[in-house]
Amino acid sequence: MIISVASGKGGTGKTTVAASLASVKDNCVYIDCDVEEPNGHLLLNPKIDFEEKVYKKLPQIDYNKCDFCGKCVEVCEFNALINLKFEIILFEEMCHWCGSCKYFCPAKAITDREKEIGVLRCGSVNEHLIFADGILKIGEISSVPLIKELKKKVIKEKINIIDSPPGTSCAMIESVKDSDFCILVTESTPFGLSDLKIAADVLNEIGIPFGVIINKYKPEFKEMENYLNDNMMDILLKIPFDRKIAEDYSKGILPVFNNNELKNAFAGLINNLKTTKVPEKTDV
Ligand code: SF4
Ligand code: SF4
Repeated sequence: MIISVASGKGGTGKTTVAASLASVKDNCVYIDCDVEEPNGHLLLNPKIDFEEKVYKKLPQIDYNKCDFCGKCVEVCEFNALINLKFEIILFEEMCHWCGSCKYFCPAKAITDREKEIGVLRCGSVNEHLIFADGILKIGEISSVPLIKELKKKVIKEKINIIDSPPGTSCAMIESVKDSDFCILVTESTPFGLSDLKIAADVLNEIGIPFGVIINKYKPEFKEMENYLNDNMMDILLKIPFDRKIAEDYSKGILPVFNNNELKNAFAGLINNLKTTKVPEKTDV
């Protein structure tokens, strides 16, 4: 099964949750799709076995065939092309490689070329946990092609934990789509609630079932639970604000290694997801 872990905003503890889930059960694969700022490796300390370069496609114009008719500029929805009548300028950052320009070019003057956008790393944490992450090259505007390649590391027979980028951009949607279930990690603050609402709307829109973990839980912030109850959203886990958890995190130690209650809660959560996909509420 595929469980994605996402959050409307950064800093909620999403990676800690994702890495903890992957660590408490055997037979897991952890895939860090937060390729602009991967930090799952800091908590899991994997042994990297191999790296591979990842490329994206861009259009290449053959000026021996091009007659500057301008059709490619006309069909480009992303305004990535300009026709100077003696040269077609491509703004690489704006090209989404939709292929329209190539498809519609009457002179068949457009072919593909490849551009390196980052690296993908694979390895293992131990015999029970396979690890993969990606590092997007600085200056690359879209992480989606790299995330697509990373998701090919999903192993159907295992429990796959996808650590999504924060926010609700294309990168988040690419990471969570195809998941059996998504865990949204939030925190007991107005910002946390605001961004949670946006993330929940996105998941509803793309039809992925989800539940919520409230990290750094503060019971006095009632608005969070009111919103979740009013909208019939499952609270999977409440992790209280705890100085020891923060200290462990700052040393790169997963809190589940020092906290049996938390470890059991995460293991129970995965078990529930495996059997029902509608997990019961757990308090720590
Ligand atoms: S559509 Fe083809 S022939 Fe026309 S300007 Fe573009 S590349 Fe040149
Ligand atoms: S591949 Fe698509 S986005 Fe890129 S230049 Fe061609 S039409 Fe525009």
